[in-house]
Amino acid sequence: MVSATAHAAAPVRESAEQLLGRARRIAGSVPDPEIPVITLEDLGILREVSGDAGRIVVTLTPTYTGCPATEVIRQDVCDALSAAGIRDADVRVTLSPPWTTDWITDDGRRKLREFGIAPPGPAPQATGISVIRFMDRAPTAGPNCPRCGAADTERISEHGSTPCKALYRCLACREPFDYFKPY
Ligand SMILES: [Zn+2]
Repeated sequence: MVSATAHAAAPVRESAEQLLGRARRIAGSVPDPEIPVITLEDLGILREVSGDAGRIVVTLTPTYTGCPATEVIRQDVCDALSAAGIRDADVRVTLSPPWTTDWITDDGRRKLREFGIAPPGPAPQATGISVIRFMDRAPTAGPNCPRCGAADTERISEHGSTPCKALYRCLACREPFDYFKPY
């Protein structure tokens, strides 16, 4: 008997360890809903994939507290696991330690640049007022242009396409671009 989802079914003899590894690859390869060129793994928000009494438990740390994308990401991870035959999964969110742009992988930074978004510089030291930490700071040095690499860039607006990005313009190639603000 062949069901519609048989092609996505798990290998017949899969150890618990193999299952965890597969679940981690699947969860990690889910695209970020706001910047689909990078994955949850690239973004550094996939904290842990573990087993708990036969269930797969995926733990995520959302990028920004209260980010509406968090629910979308949870659902996307559940859907991706389910499509791969892993239906007994639980997606949990942990806020501690808080996510920082420093967790974005080198691969993620390269993909952002290729997509035309300047990747974040080093995150400012935590002040304890984490909610406003990325809103009240002007960057000391601007990002390099993701298109031509020029360092001569100017900030046009503190808010780009989303609040976590600022809008810049390259003074060399004249192209505007988003800068993923360090957080
Ligand atoms: Zn440029």
